Amino acid sequence: AQDVLSLFLANCTSNPDAPFLISPDGAALSYAAARGKSARLAHAFRAAGVKPGDRVAIQVEKSQTALLTWLAALQAGAVYLPLNTGYTVGELRYFLGDAKPALVLCRTEDEAAMAALCSDLGVPALLTLDAAGTAGSLVDAAVGQPDTFDAVPVEAGDLAAILYTSGTTGRSKGAMLSHANLTSNALTLLDYWRFTSADRLLHALPIFHTHGLFVATNLTIAAGSAMIFVERFDAGELVRLMPQASVLMGVPTFYSRLLAQPGFTRELAQGMRLFISGSAPLSAEVHKDFSTLTGHAILERYGMTETNMNTSNPYEGTRKPGSVGYPLPGVALRIADPESGTALAQGEIGVIEVKGPNVFGGYWQMPEKTAEEFRADGYFITGDLGFIDADGYVHIVGRAKDLIIAGGFNIYPAEVEAALDEIPGIAESAVIGVPHADLGEAVVAVVKATDPALDQTAVTSALADRLARFKQPRAVVFVDELPRNTMGKVQKALLREAHAGLFA
Ligand code: ATP
Ligand code: MG
Repeated sequence: AQDVLSLFLANCTSNPDAPFLISPDGAALSYAAARGKSARLAHAFRAAGVKPGDRVAIQVEKSQTALLTWLAALQAGAVYLPLNTGYTVGELRYFLGDAKPALVLCRTEDEAAMAALCSDLGVPALLTLDAAGTAGSLVDAAVGQPDTFDAVPVEAGDLAAILYTSGTTGRSKGAMLSHANLTSNALTLLDYWRFTSADRLLHALPIFHTHGLFVATNLTIAAGSAMIFVERFDAGELVRLMPQASVLMGVPTFYSRLLAQPGFTRELAQGMRLFISGSAPLSAEVHKDFSTLTGHAILERYGMTETNMNTSNPYEGTRKPGSVGYPLPGVALRIADPESGTALAQGEIGVIEVKGPNVFGGYWQMPEKTAEEFRADGYFITGDLGFIDADGYVHIVGRAKDLIIAGGFNIYPAEVEAALDEIPGIAESAVIGVPHADLGEAVVAVVKATDPALDQTAVTSALADRLARFKQPRAVVFVDELPRNTMGKVQKALLREAHAGLFA
């Protein structure tokens, strides 16, 4: 099969009664029922004027219906374009103006504001959906429609989705993903993570990013398995549902919060087959604490909107804390000199570059940006810095944009953060560079402490014989919470802005 829809329809034929989505109350939506529902949604899209190749932009709360719009768009041959639910209608002007969709699906309560924006931008059709996914003009338009849809035939290279990056380092870019990009990655993960139709994936991620949308959903479909579909992360709810699940996919904050959740015990985690983490660095401390408590080594993997998944720790074999594992089968990965693109020797730090069927075709309407991010031989420059250790495991040391250059020395934030996280009384940390008259940039540690007695002197002296002098923070800032986005990524640009004046 060359597209996710074919994989889905194959399950509908071979195992129509198997569950696809399970709600927190235990009710199951079978593959056959999901097919019927998504076909009706596809008819509603078509009735609203959506033609093959058109973009369908979606900004609605997570619900089963919201997820099924992905399968509806596939049937209609449309390009799926999900948007972060956090964006205001004002912020959507950029995305909708950029993407020029044929249809926007928005929250019921945003209808008036969105209608004004759509008429401004010349978007011809608007439908709505409520938070529960049970009411709105989309639901009305789907009622009474046939429960089969003659899927529009697609080629492997056709565009399946435009997915916007998280905007961590600047304005979000629309990554153009083909059917082959998505399907090849889902099939690789199916094998690598040993998914079967018996799996029950506990799904508490948002569905507008690649992690919750494509990694989780496409893999579930490839396996013919089911997702226990939870609206949002809540540690207590995850504890309640875990006995029914076999796999959890989470961002690192899921794991640190589970560790702090009463009732999260070794017994509870016993029936689980696999805990997966990604989207942001999982601290080695959390990895170790989790395995001490549960006996499970969290499997950390590394991917991005543009490339789907690139590396993963092994299913069997050692899952190294602080490492993102091996390049996945079919993914060529090299560490290169950021300027020249020359491949570096094992152990050296450089920019991570990847090539393979998983890698996107380019940024939507940004040919120059696209050209800048690819080498002449087709490798995509991820912008993440890392190295490969003697065992072949990839380690990420931070983003190129977060690299600190102080007094002419390169300082990789991840190394300093790892040292900080090991200090008793520090829960988590983020290390940034801020302007400094003498050094160019100075290292600043922003930490969330659990011990109120901890102060800058205590932190600095704890680091004294752990880190070379030039890597040691010149200032330690204590905060109640690190600023993180919905994917648990620390917003370092915000921190740099907030502390820019520290040495002024
Ligand atoms: P933008 O590209 O708009 O600045 P973004 O890079 O955060 O935002 P995403 O595509 O959602 O957008 O995230 C991909 C990035 O997330 C990777 O490039 C990497 O920096 C980070 N990441 C993903 N998984 C891991 C991981 N396991 N460890 C460390 N970083 C990770
Ligand atoms: Mg990025």
